[in-house]
Amino acid sequence: MSKQTLGFQAETKQLLQLMIHSLYSNKEIFLRELISNASDACDKLKFESLNNDALYENDGELHIDIAFDKEARTVTLSDNGIGMSRDEVIANIGTIARSGTRAFFEQLSGDAKADANLIGQFGVGFYSAFIVADRVTLTTRRAGSAGATRWESEGAGEYTLEEVEKAGRGTEIVLHLKEGEDEFLDDWRLKSVVKKYSDHITLPIRMKKSPGYGENGEVIVSEELETVNKASALWARSKSDISEDEYKAFYKHVSHDWEEPLAWSHARVEGRQEYTELLYVPKRAPFDLYDRERRHGIKLFVRRVFILEDAEKLLPQYLRFVRGVIDSNDLPLNVSREILQHSKDIDAIKAGCVKKVLSLLEDIAENRADDYAAFWQEFGKVVKEGVGEDAVNRDRIAGLCRFASSLDDLETQQVSLKDYIGRMKEGQDKIYYVTADTFASARNSPHLEIFRKKGIEVLLLSDRVDEWFVGSLTEFDGKALASVAKGGLDLGGLQDETEKQAQEAKAVDFKELTDKIKATLGDSVKEVRVTHRLTDSPACLVADEHAMSGNLERLMKSVGQ
Ligand code: ADP
Ligand code: MG
Repeated sequence: MSKQTLGFQAETKQLLQLMIHSLYSNKEIFLRELISNASDACDKLKFESLNNDALYENDGELHIDIAFDKEARTVTLSDNGIGMSRDEVIANIGTIARSGTRAFFEQLSGDAKADANLIGQFGVGFYSAFIVADRVTLTTRRAGSAGATRWESEGAGEYTLEEVEKAGRGTEIVLHLKEGEDEFLDDWRLKSVVKKYSDHITLPIRMKKSPGYGENGEVIVSEELETVNKASALWARSKSDISEDEYKAFYKHVSHDWEEPLAWSHARVEGRQEYTELLYVPKRAPFDLYDRERRHGIKLFVRRVFILEDAEKLLPQYLRFVRGVIDSNDLPLNVSREILQHSKDIDAIKAGCVKKVLSLLEDIAENRADDYAAFWQEFGKVVKEGVGEDAVNRDRIAGLCRFASSLDDLETQQVSLKDYIGRMKEGQDKIYYVTADTFASARNSPHLEIFRKKGIEVLLLSDRVDEWFVGSLTEFDGKALASVAKGGLDLGGLQDETEKQAQEAKAVDFKELTDKIKATLGDSVKEVRVTHRLTDSPACLVADEHAMSGNLERLMKSVGQ
């Protein structure tokens, strides 16, 4: 077949422009992105060849090679990974047909730095080649197939495809550098970028040996290749050998995030299940935190062989923002998503990892107050889901939660249940809360009047997840949670005898009035009674002790129940 010209999706074009502009100040990352793709391609080959050894084509030593040519002004990356078929080239390189595309464009802010982060999470790394190149040629042959495909583009809206011959399997990418990007035609520069970003890549990244000097000062150029990176799985190394910067660089690799992580936990676990976990808490929520088709999650390895990346089975939903790797010593190499679902071994690993993450969060909460506040702002709503989802760890999760409170009337959620209990009034035995669909209506709820008057703190709950939260958590540290809007308000020990008597007397005095109101309202109310709840408002609606709260009822209606 002769050369064929195809058009990019409109969105691809836009993305390219954006990429080039917003990332220019950080342009060397193109190398990291291309190396990361080559490494993924080798992982895929390893995995596919578990069932089909022939894919190795007698070339089992996987590596990534980088070369440059000063005359031609090109930088070339090649790998002997899985490669791509023609269709795969079109699907993976020619289009961005991914679920998050729209969400991604909706989130663009025009702020270069923030947008650069989004690009990273979105995983459009390949296009970063166009930051430094005005023409990119990709030649690839899928392992086990005969023909190869050459893709070429100037990044302007079109690309060409051609059938070609290629001896070795895998992918070769030639970057024809733009005018002014000659700094990358340099041995030292390329090697230092590789070391900076890709030391942890488990495959050897090879380049020609740097030129040396002979006895008489003559330059000796060698054709021999040397491995530039450390090439060992970072998580398999001992903690004391790993620097903070290496941990951070590895995070960026596994998470596709361009920012540094907030915290991490690295441990080798021994016992019934042997595994290593290296789990990170990001600083910022990914754009698809609430998207069912999330792309990233935890990478599962078995004895250093990459098996799969899973966004659902390896950690519970409420910890879906955690990134990292789990490397098991015991699981069989043929684990599939189906097996993950019913594996007792996976359950044990999962339970262990959950505990690790909770400890990590508790540690941040205790020792890094500002970081925890930032974390809560980003992920609080997701963590609250855990109280309903994870009965085993319910109390620990509840302990991690933060709420807005009538104490300071601030929308910022910063009060813990422990803080609340520590401030309870003499005679108070319940944790009071109000739920509403906005913070403003929670704060202004008439149900709060009596509490404000008596100086009793009330938690102001207005996140969607809060109804589920209070539905799942009935008590904390022996103190019941009580809605201020439900049932007959029993302030228990907070009310003195005279108040109680005055209230009962009023109920008798006003019986005629309450009966009349009940008769007028008929079946739309169950009961009309005199209350001491209110100090300023004339009347309010109260839900029955065991009925749904007004807010939950509104929520259910909004989802069509
Ligand atoms: P991501 O790596 O996040 O999927 P990229 O834009 O970096 O996004 O790459 C797009 C896709 O192109 C990859 O998912 C992969 O399918 C394919 N790809 C890129 N580089 C290679 C390569 N060297 N070998 C095989 N496939 C590749
Ligand atoms: Mg990539």
